[in-house]
Amino acid sequence: GHPALTEFGTTIFATMTQLALEKDAVNLGQGFPDTDGPREVLDAAVEAIRSGRNQYPPGPGVPELRDAVAAHQERFYGLRVDPAREVLVTVGATEAIAAVVLALVRPGDEVVTFEPYYDSYAATIALAGGVRRTSLLRFPDFRVDEASLRAAFSERTRLVLLNTPHNPTGKVFSREELELVAALAREHDAWVVTDEVYEHLTFDGRPHVPMASLPGMAERTLAISSGGKTFATTGWKVGWVTGAAEAVAAVRGVKQYLTFVGSGPFQPAIAVGLGLPDAVFTGLATSMAGKRDRLVAGLRAAGFAVPVPEGGYFVLADAAPLGVVDAETFCLELPDRAGVVGVPASAFHDDLEASRSLVRFAFCKRDEVLDEACRRLEALR
Ligand code: PMP
Ligand code: GLN
Repeated sequence: GHPALTEFGTTIFATMTQLALEKDAVNLGQGFPDTDGPREVLDAAVEAIRSGRNQYPPGPGVPELRDAVAAHQERFYGLRVDPAREVLVTVGATEAIAAVVLALVRPGDEVVTFEPYYDSYAATIALAGGVRRTSLLRFPDFRVDEASLRAAFSERTRLVLLNTPHNPTGKVFSREELELVAALAREHDAWVVTDEVYEHLTFDGRPHVPMASLPGMAERTLAISSGGKTFATTGWKVGWVTGAAEAVAAVRGVKQYLTFVGSGPFQPAIAVGLGLPDAVFTGLATSMAGKRDRLVAGLRAAGFAVPVPEGGYFVLADAAPLGVVDAETFCLELPDRAGVVGVPASAFHDDLEASRSLVRFAFCKRDEVLDEACRRLEALR
């Protein structure tokens, strides 16, 4: 049968959330916030529904959201994108990833990505008939390994798919690392696709560097983001792609036959969010850094080896000091042993040896939820 029918089971996130519900465990598996985001954004969606914006929005997205995305790129990164031709609104970053890969990858083309990788990368590359070539970000510092990255490129490389800030490691790619990726992409005439959904979640003053801001890279980069993480609206599924007009047009061509359009009244609401003052964005990062510290301390106290995430929603913890040799079994038993759910890193890996005892925990939760999880995890000692 088609590989998509035989290889894809239920996603790890759905499985672990189901397990958390069954076992009444604290769910630090699936990454979604448990509080609402800015009031203005929520009110704008209600207002859009009340004012009758409930039919198909325009194919490329509502004009005020495309304008807001362009203004956001300029305000935060000094990037100029044309809202008419270089912005496409999608149904979350997930559709953007799928539409970009389906638009650019022909059967047999190779896609370079880092592992661990977000699970939909492997699935969409497979749907397009592409071949995944990965370079390992090794626990605990997750540095880019130049030799393995170089070895992942070939004359068949069509694109590089990169996520920063990174799920599940919490890594934020440095400018030097991005420059290396950029140089290899130029050398192999490849596109670079960057998944920047956690762009506003970097900690301790570390900057988020968009690939498109590096010299000469805007013309070969497609940047993907979404409103889910920034405004705590993961259920709204408002995402976007920005980049070179010809590539955005190709992605739009594919998108027409995936969903046509989506998220009608939520699009103007996310536009309102993107225009909020800087303090809203920095406040989100500061609050999330505090949650990171809470969970890191609790995991360490419970006996895990834990590197400190530089950004995002997640921490990748090593359970080996607890005697764990197989994180998949450990994660299935964890709800009974400690009343907590995490995700085994194997879900993001080809190299199962590298991920053996690693578990991903989400810290985008209320402080009292994190504290309760940490209290329960003490049972492991
Ligand atoms: N990319 C990464 C790295 C993610 O962690 C997620 C999950 N939230 C997505 C993409 C999907 O984003 P969206 O919910 O906007 O589809
Ligand atoms: N992005 C979220 C995570 O990594 C969940 C998305 C999903 O459930 N597909 O946990």
